[in-house]
Amino acid sequence: AAAKPSNFLRHAIEQDLEQGTYAQRRWGGQPGDGPSHAAGMPDPAKVRMRFPPEPNGYLHIGHAKSIWLNFSLAKEYGGVCHLRFDDTNPEKEEQEYVDSIRDTVRWLGWDHHLADDPARPGVAQPHEYFASDYFDFMYRAAEYLVEAGLAYVDEQTPEEMRANRGDFGKPGTDSPFRTRTPAENLARLREMRDGQLPDGAAVLRAKIDMASPNINMRDPTLYRIRRATHHNTGDKWCIYPMYTFAHPIEDALEQITHSVCTLEFEDQRPFYDWLLQKLCEGGLLQSPPPHQYEFGRLNVGHVITSKRKLRQLVEEAHVNGWDDPRMPTLVGLRRRGYTAEALNLFAERSGVTKIGGAWTDYAALEAALRETLDPAVPRAMAVIEPLKLVIDNWADVFGSDTHVDPCQAPVHPHHPEMGQRHFNLGKEVWIERTDYEDVPPKGFFRLFPPQTAADGTVTPGSKVRLKYGYVIECTGAIKDEAGRAISVRATLIKDTKSGTPGADSVKVKGVITWVGAGDAKAAEFRLYDRLFTEEQPDAGGRDFLSVINPNSLTVEQGYVEPSLANAQPEERFQFERHGYFVADRHDHQPGAKLVFNRIAGLKDSWGK
Ligand code: ATP
Ligand code: MG
Ligand code: MG
Repeated sequence: AAAKPSNFLRHAIEQDLEQGTYAQRRWGGQPGDGPSHAAGMPDPAKVRMRFPPEPNGYLHIGHAKSIWLNFSLAKEYGGVCHLRFDDTNPEKEEQEYVDSIRDTVRWLGWDHHLADDPARPGVAQPHEYFASDYFDFMYRAAEYLVEAGLAYVDEQTPEEMRANRGDFGKPGTDSPFRTRTPAENLARLREMRDGQLPDGAAVLRAKIDMASPNINMRDPTLYRIRRATHHNTGDKWCIYPMYTFAHPIEDALEQITHSVCTLEFEDQRPFYDWLLQKLCEGGLLQSPPPHQYEFGRLNVGHVITSKRKLRQLVEEAHVNGWDDPRMPTLVGLRRRGYTAEALNLFAERSGVTKIGGAWTDYAALEAALRETLDPAVPRAMAVIEPLKLVIDNWADVFGSDTHVDPCQAPVHPHHPEMGQRHFNLGKEVWIERTDYEDVPPKGFFRLFPPQTAADGTVTPGSKVRLKYGYVIECTGAIKDEAGRAISVRATLIKDTKSGTPGADSVKVKGVITWVGAGDAKAAEFRLYDRLFTEEQPDAGGRDFLSVINPNSLTVEQGYVEPSLANAQPEERFQFERHGYFVADRHDHQPGAKLVFNRIAGLKDSWGK
């Protein structure tokens, strides 16, 4: 395999491994403080990374990038990566999201439940943590900061706090509560914790610098009062840590070495470093603490990743739920038929940079899909928009109208070991409606009947091959009252069967796919297209709902060849000439109700 292109994260990791930056770190906390005390955290010298979603929604394509980045880097450098639920905000978090996130990370191939301890091979250590398990430690850290004169309880109103924060280029103003003694602050913090103050009456703030050019360093809030039942800790707490305070501590307790996040958090890094340094100085954590690195988030064309907007699509029923195959959620992409392999390849190719605002073309996602499916998945014939074709001379050729002629085709053209598919040609077959024209447009080489020119000369109907079968000649079509073809008529040309010596005796310009009416299996096809007509649906404050593609889903009732009768949910195929399809994860029932979702066409259709 080619060497992986280097990037700033690899660089940092390689440097730390070389210098043994983390080799000396030993956990200094108390039992119960966090997973560092569990037997499963043996080797501090290892690269240790994490994927830390907040369980307040479903993961989306952007998260696939972050998941790939963290897990694959840790693996590549012989380290570990684990899943952490960043569940410090009780109001928005739910078990439903925890379950879905866990399931999705595992589906992507990162089984964080595997043991990483070489001393205890085969012993499964759960590499799954909950930030809320560290609430005790976080509170102790808060008391330490108060005692060290590094934090204070502020009782300004939210409006006063906002006004006194200042602005870019304009320093803030110290709170009148900033000069309280540590003893006063400690007493007040305990009152906050013990439920003696109403929600919103006070916050704990770090005491740093109200004139800092970085607004995040102007005494950021560490704790707030919020009477809310937490999915893990119930009603034990009525104060909850802020993300900016909690996150660095979570990283430190889990002995993270390289804490990777997206660029929006770059301005938070000084506080991340400040906090962990203070806690190391106080002996609550051991040096060196983890280091934060930021990379440019993944933006994909024609896709929205804001959780709020995705929720709106679901709640206002613009789509059918979080796992609608048009959704950029990972459950949606999975149901659409995307594979973990394709998503990881896409994530890898999208690159790792420190530059924000870059957009990746959706075509790149489809390209990764085609590249991974093409060599692997079975081929099959499907007729999506069926039109009956009747071979009028069938009995003349085969002796009886009920005779069937067995045909076969390779399951995969490049993998003979995958075997052959078998199906029958009979007097009646299903063909695609679009494969027939009364009058052929220029360059149309499929079915059309004899044509009469202006001067009265008649040219014969087209000759085309029924793929894997015979050459036929179109003789006409039977129409309904509106002039729409009900059945196409043709005659079969003897001794032209594919794979026999006579196959090339008649040259044809057109080859069409078909399914024998006698052994076809009825199937539903769900044809998905882009959900938004614009590449950046919410650019420039545009209402993204105004650019929803009204034709993002077309449902057709057609047929597939008999080899698909028992296709299993999530089994993928290339339907010849049509593209890649997957048996729907939920609605497809083998042998009973066949439902196939179009994942992508055979060629890129995203060109501008
Ligand atoms: P919210 O929508 O609530 O802000 P979020 O998108 O930040 O949530 P989290 O659950 O907090 O989602 O994200 C978990 C991890 O995934 C974070 O480390 C975050 O940086 C990363 N992440 C989120 N969106 C993207 C993206 N588009 N590209 C790369 N990484 C992302
Ligand atoms: Mg977030
Ligand atoms: Mg976000």
